[in-house]
Amino acid sequence: MSISPAALEAAHLIDRLERLTRAGDAPGGINPAQWEALRYLARANRFSRTPAALADYLASTRGTVSRTLASLESKGYVARMPNPRDGRSVDFALTAQAQKALRRDPLKAMAEDIDRALRQDAADLVDRLKRTLGTAIARNQGRAFGACASCRHFCPQAHAAAAAPHHCRLLDVPLSDKDSLAICVEQEPAAMPPSRAAGRAAMP
Ligand code: SF4
Repeated sequence: MSISPAALEAAHLIDRLERLTRAGDAPGGINPAQWEALRYLARANRFSRTPAALADYLASTRGTVSRTLASLESKGYVARMPNPRDGRSVDFALTAQAQKALRRDPLKAMAEDIDRALRQDAADLVDRLKRTLGTAIARNQGRAFGACASCRHFCPQAHAAAAAPHHCRLLDVPLSDKDSLAICVEQEPAAMPPSRAAGRAAMP
């Protein structure tokens, strides 16, 4: 397949933007890999804060991710706790120190630049980037890590009067509004491509 010059230029621009975001000072002594882990934990739901899920999200190895989390733990940014769903795994939670650090996340500088350059067109960019990301994930046979609204297991308003009004059919748990907005390692897009669906069906 031939690549258009505009598409290649867009790929170079995204690569350069990403590098510029990683450059410069490391506020709080947090390196780029550690920022990626903190951002993930801030956005992930309670079923997805494990080293394995983080490794899947970052397309990294469990060993690398474990070292990153151990370093963040020693600096007081994350806390390790038992995983109620799997005794062989652990969950990680952000500490108050991490919540404070995330308010100075270097990624916000890129968000400000996008806002300045695009304003009302930013939503259109998000839509196009999501489609580009979806293609890359399918090529790598990765997980989508979307939120509940676009998941085939989501039952909105299944318990309309409850504090957690929604329901996850896959995990068989009620979901609050906050739960439903977070990204999830188990999310399966409602319109999943047949090849990906077959791959998931074969998983243990
Ligand atoms: S509905 Fe989907 S995205 Fe939401 S918790 Fe269940 S599996 Fe995860």
